[in-house]
Amino acid sequence: MRSDSKQERRRFLQLVGSVPLLGAMPLLKAEVTSIYGIRLWPAPDHTRIVLDLDQRVDYKLTSSSHPAKITLRLNQAQPILTLDAVVRDDPRLKAINTRFIGSGSQFEVELVLLQGVDARSFLLPPNESYGHRLVLDLHNRQSPVVTQKLPQEPQQRPQKRVLTIAIDAGHGGEDPGAVGHNKSREKDIVLRVAKRLEKLIQKERGMQAVLIRKGDYYVSLGGRVRKARKAAADLLISVHADGFKRKSAHGASVFTLSEKRATSEMTRWMVRQENRADRIGGVDEQRESNSFAYALRDMERAANLKVSMELAGVVLSELDKIGDLHGKRVHKGSFAVLKAPDFPSMLVETGFITNPREERKLRTSAYQQKLAEAMMKAVRQFAVRYPLTETVPSSSTEAHSRVLYYRVKKGNTLSSIAKSRGISLSALRRLNPGLGDLLSVGQKLRVQ
Ligand SMILES: [Zn+2]
Repeated sequence: MRSDSKQERRRFLQLVGSVPLLGAMPLLKAEVTSIYGIRLWPAPDHTRIVLDLDQRVDYKLTSSSHPAKITLRLNQAQPILTLDAVVRDDPRLKAINTRFIGSGSQFEVELVLLQGVDARSFLLPPNESYGHRLVLDLHNRQSPVVTQKLPQEPQQRPQKRVLTIAIDAGHGGEDPGAVGHNKSREKDIVLRVAKRLEKLIQKERGMQAVLIRKGDYYVSLGGRVRKARKAAADLLISVHADGFKRKSAHGASVFTLSEKRATSEMTRWMVRQENRADRIGGVDEQRESNSFAYALRDMERAANLKVSMELAGVVLSELDKIGDLHGKRVHKGSFAVLKAPDFPSMLVETGFITNPREERKLRTSAYQQKLAEAMMKAVRQFAVRYPLTETVPSSSTEAHSRVLYYRVKKGNTLSSIAKSRGISLSALRRLNPGLGDLLSVGQKLRVQ
């Protein structure tokens, strides 16, 4: 198996190249780096191992297949805790062995594996939650069948689609989200609410739920959006329970996307809190890109935003029935997780975990269920108001391929187009906001 050490070395040197931004630090340090913490976060497709360090470290990663293991060799480093105790029931990791080598100048961390993995590592600079971190991700090997492009199927059989709702429980893993005075963590509460909503959706006919994260691990903000599109989501609901610097702040709120700077101090704070998650959760910035190379016309964007606003309004009025609101209207903010342009989305702040009364409430399963039901109301409204009317070829896997267009021909009227596509005239108008009564030949209309 190919050694990754060269690549790692290059990455390290690239990081060193940006040192002036992080504060000057020589490449070869005289002092010894202490490893003072280790955490393990198993996810369905990878296991993340995080080492807490008191300063940057020069390291090298190597791997071997027989026996299956990954080795991290840290220069001038020593642990101040036992690293092996952390391994328990991990699907990829059997054991961690450590030893000093090179007459003590290097510290070696050997990860004995249960299966072949693709290992990636990167260093993270300190932030408000953590000091220096060395992150190692052990990704499942993708089977060649999945990674290869499949030849076009000769016959594209239409496949009945179900309405797909992506539920995004905020934060996770390294990123606990906001923490209450009673030590409740946002990441735990929102996952419970998300799972309750998933259950409600799965009970409905013609609908399915996709949980963006199913356990306690971190998914990058861009990764959340990518997961939703890969699942061909029709709607995304991101669930949060954030905190504010003032204990008195309280009440639930619902947000939709706005590219503009938010006007209220609270919304700006919320946007900042949510969008900094990648820094705390840990993202390899050289691999991660949050930009979407999908040039969707303003028309679709506007249509999705309109639907988002409508559904967010439904959730808000439901939340009003079960608790306090933070403001009586839907807020807008530039949340990274809402930036998919091709399906409607909203972010629900279920309450302030930093408010002791709301923290108590958010912890109860009865209230978590009520929150899930409030969101379910919007899901049901979505299904009724915007039913799926088209079937798509089974080979279409990308979400954006579901956006079907009709090019206006001579003699067409709005009602003849609606009829031929099997949708109502009002549905056609909803899909094409700002549409007048006069059509021009060649004009593109969204028909799904
Ligand atoms: Zn949050």
